[in-house]
Amino acid sequence: MAEFAIKKIPNDQKKEIGLISDFKNTDIRQLALYDAVVLDYTDRQGCEAFIRQCRGSFIGTLYLMPIFILSLNKDITKTVEVLSDGVISSLQVEPIIGLIDRIRSKQQNLAVIDSSSPEVRIMTKFLRYMYTRERKIEPIIDPKSHIGYSYPMLSDHYNNGNTVEMFRVLDNIAHNEYARPTFVDKLHLCSECYSSFLNFRETCPKCESLDIITENLIHHFVCAYVGPEHDFISDDYMVCPKCNRMLRHIGVDYDKPSVVYNCHNCSHIFQEPVMEAFCFVCQKRNPIDALIDKSIYSYDLTQIGEESAVNGFGREVKEEFDIQGFITFTTFNIFLKYEIERSKNSQKPSAVGSLILRISSEDRVKMGSSYKKLMLEMADFIKNATLSTDILSFVNNTTFLIISPNNESSELQSLLNNIRSSMEKLLQSSLPLTPFKFDTRVISITGSQNHTDCINQLMAN
Ligand SMILES: [Zn+2]
Ligand SMILES: [Zn+2]
Ligand SMILES: [Zn+2]
Repeated sequence: MAEFAIKKIPNDQKKEIGLISDFKNTDIRQLALYDAVVLDYTDRQGCEAFIRQCRGSFIGTLYLMPIFILSLNKDITKTVEVLSDGVISSLQVEPIIGLIDRIRSKQQNLAVIDSSSPEVRIMTKFLRYMYTRERKIEPIIDPKSHIGYSYPMLSDHYNNGNTVEMFRVLDNIAHNEYARPTFVDKLHLCSECYSSFLNFRETCPKCESLDIITENLIHHFVCAYVGPEHDFISDDYMVCPKCNRMLRHIGVDYDKPSVVYNCHNCSHIFQEPVMEAFCFVCQKRNPIDALIDKSIYSYDLTQIGEESAVNGFGREVKEEFDIQGFITFTTFNIFLKYEIERSKNSQKPSAVGSLILRISSEDRVKMGSSYKKLMLEMADFIKNATLSTDILSFVNNTTFLIISPNNESSELQSLLNNIRSSMEKLLQSSLPLTPFKFDTRVISITGSQNHTDCINQLMAN
């Protein structure tokens, strides 16, 4: 019976402290009735699963619940240790009551943050946990994790397939100065799947075979011949293939200046093998320079982070921002006027177009500075995909405008379609849960138009 699964631990402060030993029959929602809970570590797996379930919740009363572990010899896993508020070896709970009060009083400062964005909710959680615990968040070495490390409050929200997302949240936290990162380790990750379960191995530069062996290179002093060791062996002696003398003493009549590689597959002999990193997860053979370098940090809450933990992410993105190579809307209008004028006199067709990102302003604000980063990335892509004679502008934080003096409208349309499909991929991978869409519009410049009408048409909803 669920209601009996949690036993009350008597204490002189009259705190509601529950003891849980039977994890299977405990309904996690019942925790809300307690000031703190103690988990019996006798059932190790049950205990770990249970604490992960609490900390993995998005409900503040659950993930911020003061949780202690009851273990006589205090021999608990790192994950359980990090996720708990302490380990006790008896049911004398008086010593932990001070800590429970501190956590609870900090918890009372927290304003309600209502957000449907998973990223905002995860960041909120991350900061609130640090704030109420007054402790930093450190990565723990975890062979079960895709990358070899896990962040106990964070990693359970990301299965191994979306490590990229987790790094993005962490980068976001550091970038916005919510937390101060301290370097811990550097990882080399598979470029395909972000796994660090890699085998670094030598391959043949000619045929890419792995079946290669190393051999000493022998230098015969007398005749100056240099060759692989197997050239020199005849029965029990080493005989120089060039001068037929016997080699006796290393250092006296010969030495081994280096090693050579010999490919069993194609018989190629070489000195510099090509290194590759084979991924055990997705089986990609990564060239070494394609691996993703990622630093791992621990995080300390900053003043800004503390404010955000308590009140939410108030600081918004600056409303307009300038992008290099993009002109202002006013200047764009002038150029468009000229271009219409020009096409009156020449027969050369040209076009003007727009690419508009439709995303709710609420989502934009939630993304904070990462929205700006994304727009800069898009702007960069557009700059590279268009002609140097094209005139670009970025308005309202969402709309890219382009005058293309050397393209017909059909060419500009297909260019914008290509840009759109690349941008959709970029956004889908960086914002998988945010609804968005792109509109593209193209108008052929004929010389008889009014530039304001063109602009209205390009920017209409
Ligand atoms: Zn020789
Ligand atoms: Zn080979
Ligand atoms: Zn991989």
